[in-house]
Amino acid sequence: MIRFTFYMTLSLAVVIAAVVWFSDRPGAVSIEWQGWLIELSVSRLVLAAAVALVALVFIVELVRSAGKAPKKLREWHRTSRRERGYRALTHGMVAVAAGDSKEANRQARRADVLLNEPPLTMLLSAQAAQLNGDEAAAARYFNNMLDRPETAFLGFRGLLIQAQKNNDRRAALQYAERAYELQPKTPWVLTTMFDLQVGEGRWRAALATLEEAVKRKAIGADIARDRRATVLLGCSAEAEAAGDLSDALRFARRANTLAPDFLPAVLRTVDIMVRTDKVRPASRIIQNAWVRTPHPALARIYGEIGDSDDALKRVKRYERLLSFNPEHPESHIALAETALDAELWGEARNHLERAAGDDPSARVCRMMADLEERSGENPESARSWLLRASAAPTDPAWICRDCGAVWDNWSPVCGDCGSLGSQSWEPPARARAWGLRLPGTEPPPVVLEDEVVDDMRDTAGGDDVPGEKTDTAAR
Ligand SMILES: [Zn+2]
Repeated sequence: MIRFTFYMTLSLAVVIAAVVWFSDRPGAVSIEWQGWLIELSVSRLVLAAAVALVALVFIVELVRSAGKAPKKLREWHRTSRRERGYRALTHGMVAVAAGDSKEANRQARRADVLLNEPPLTMLLSAQAAQLNGDEAAAARYFNNMLDRPETAFLGFRGLLIQAQKNNDRRAALQYAERAYELQPKTPWVLTTMFDLQVGEGRWRAALATLEEAVKRKAIGADIARDRRATVLLGCSAEAEAAGDLSDALRFARRANTLAPDFLPAVLRTVDIMVRTDKVRPASRIIQNAWVRTPHPALARIYGEIGDSDDALKRVKRYERLLSFNPEHPESHIALAETALDAELWGEARNHLERAAGDDPSARVCRMMADLEERSGENPESARSWLLRASAAPTDPAWICRDCGAVWDNWSPVCGDCGSLGSQSWEPPARARAWGLRLPGTEPPPVVLEDEVVDDMRDTAGGDDVPGEKTDTAAR
């Protein structure tokens, strides 16, 4: 239109200039045509011709514009429809965020009709359906989203969250793995897939995911270091379950090398070594570990090495073990146990007294009772030791830091709360601060003040704990 106005103005200026030019130079034109005689001055003829030309151009332009009008109208209608569609989409998302299911549903339908672009509206429709509690409809939308490359990832994400809500871990893992194929760099995909693989006991896959997550910075290096040793022990158990003991040992040794003071790694490594007749390195590892982390299970495995039938030779072996950590109660308990087996009552008493100190634990009290009874020296004393055991401080146990469940044996994942690497060998005083309880039972309804909890965490060991719980921990 601007162009048209410009040309019209220019043409008018040219016509006026021409008329003025011809007016200054007079003359006449006469036209005779079909009995008509027209006589005109030149300037008038020029003016008439110019007006006729301009009128013609104007008419042509008008006709052209009228021809374009329906197309322009259609374009305007489409643009306005898209704008209204996007507005509905935005309002729908706001409604989802606000939890307004009715409005979300209304706007989803509106956006669907106005936009006619399923990739854009399917997610909103699915979310609106979820807000309405219609999980089946939401699943339908999510499944439809899988058909289009631009929405497939969102579809898998929706289905994954649904599966997690339904506690269907296997399906959730499948969706996570499909999402990973589409977006391998997404941090939440990596961490979710790792958690699900751990939950499903797919340790080797979890190990690969862990390394990938570290590479992509989805898991921090410090956290990964702690988890890696635990996951490696899971891999070891997985290999053992598949009958491959050499692979099982390889994984356990890797965990042991990564975290030399990580007791479960030491225990698993030496346990497999002893079972596969690698007694010399096993013996060396136990002796090294005994310096920092003495443990009853370590002592038990040490006892399986060498000539186990000769009680006196066994005593000699435990004397050597004691020499690596001569002050620790576990050293004396281990030696006292062997001395009891060898019926060396004096030596057993000596070491039990050293282990007992001022406040003997339940285990030491029971061993004292056993000694008194078997040696036959003082049967009355045996009964009093048993009585004392029932009120004595409990011995350390494998306790889950996250849920307080107490376990006989360590495992990579807590069987109660599913936490990874949450079990540690702890005295019950600390366990009480976490809410000590039997696996599968509710935590005790005792709410401890924060200060008390901190205090208990600081004083790790020696405190008394309610009797029925301490018996569990002592197992
Ligand atoms: Zn737990």
